[in-house]
Amino acid sequence: MKLSIVVPCYNEEAVLARFDEAVRAVLARLGVAHELCYVDDGSTDGTLARLRGLAQQHRGTTRYLSFSRNFGKEPAMLAGLRAATGDAVILMDADLQHPPDLIEKMLDLYQLGHDQVVARRSRDGERRLRSALSRCYYRAVNTWVDVELADGVGDFRLLSRKAVDALLALPEYNRFSKGLFSWIGFDTVTFDYRNAVREAGETKWRLGALVNYGIDGMLSFNSRPLRLAIYAGLGLAGLAGLYTLWIVAAAVVGGVTAPGYVTLVAIIVGLGGLQMVMLGLIGEYIGRIYHEAKRRPHYLVKEGNAAEATLSAAAG
Ligand code: UDP
Ligand code: MG
Repeated sequence: MKLSIVVPCYNEEAVLARFDEAVRAVLARLGVAHELCYVDDGSTDGTLARLRGLAQQHRGTTRYLSFSRNFGKEPAMLAGLRAATGDAVILMDADLQHPPDLIEKMLDLYQLGHDQVVARRSRDGERRLRSALSRCYYRAVNTWVDVELADGVGDFRLLSRKAVDALLALPEYNRFSKGLFSWIGFDTVTFDYRNAVREAGETKWRLGALVNYGIDGMLSFNSRPLRLAIYAGLGLAGLAGLYTLWIVAAAVVGGVTAPGYVTLVAIIVGLGGLQMVMLGLIGEYIGRIYHEAKRRPHYLVKEGNAAEATLSAAAG
């Protein structure tokens, strides 16, 4: 069997060589046929030059693609999966936060017949706020969204050829891999590992990007948030009805009293806000339809030595 390692890289000049060495050492020890598929996601540092160097140095076992600009990790993973030719594919980050030593364990589990071998990380060494927010987020997502998303489960996983082909058959433009992995199903096994801190370079995720990613996760799988909006509307209408009854009753019993300015303002402002949120929600879905309808490629390739780069006239 042949194993492909898919690595999205965005400005990873500082760790790339170390990563490559570490992974190759493990693969050599395991004696498994392999290839490394690097996808340079429009890096602005020396990442591409390093990749060219690696491709020279390890001819035959290194494929690389370089995007025309930064398209994001999702498109980069997609390109890597498309370029990979192995019977099994492992998705890894370039920053050594995904310990190469775990490849052995993943392969063992794959050999037992699992189609997805998922490494779940603990949140050691992460900022307290970030891990607390993540935990709340997953709880919310799992109550609202149809697919199951687990905390600590990221993109670090082994996929069998069957699972990879299933993923590649999903045509959507907005890709939210965590959800897609869970959506395709197949025989999945999960094991835990200790979170490692980034070896060098810095995280590409700002808090804002994380929040956006979170919203994507909620919206890309179903229309349940819209259903939620209907429930909120119904609930509020019900409350408004009760309140009206109460006011009328109070007026009948105690006569008309004028005050109520504060209540009025609070209600107007509150409802206005809620309506904005729901409009935004609908807009979000329409925006998604718009993007999907354009059918743009997920990414553009400017150079590379993977078949993908030459075959598809640079469009993904
Ligand atoms: N990455 C990418 N494109 C981007 C952002 C990140 O290909 O726009 C890659 C990055 O090079 C790394 C992986 O995705 O290999 C994870 O990124 P990072 O370590 O910054 O995320 P974190 O581990 O902090 O979640
Ligand atoms: Mg990282």
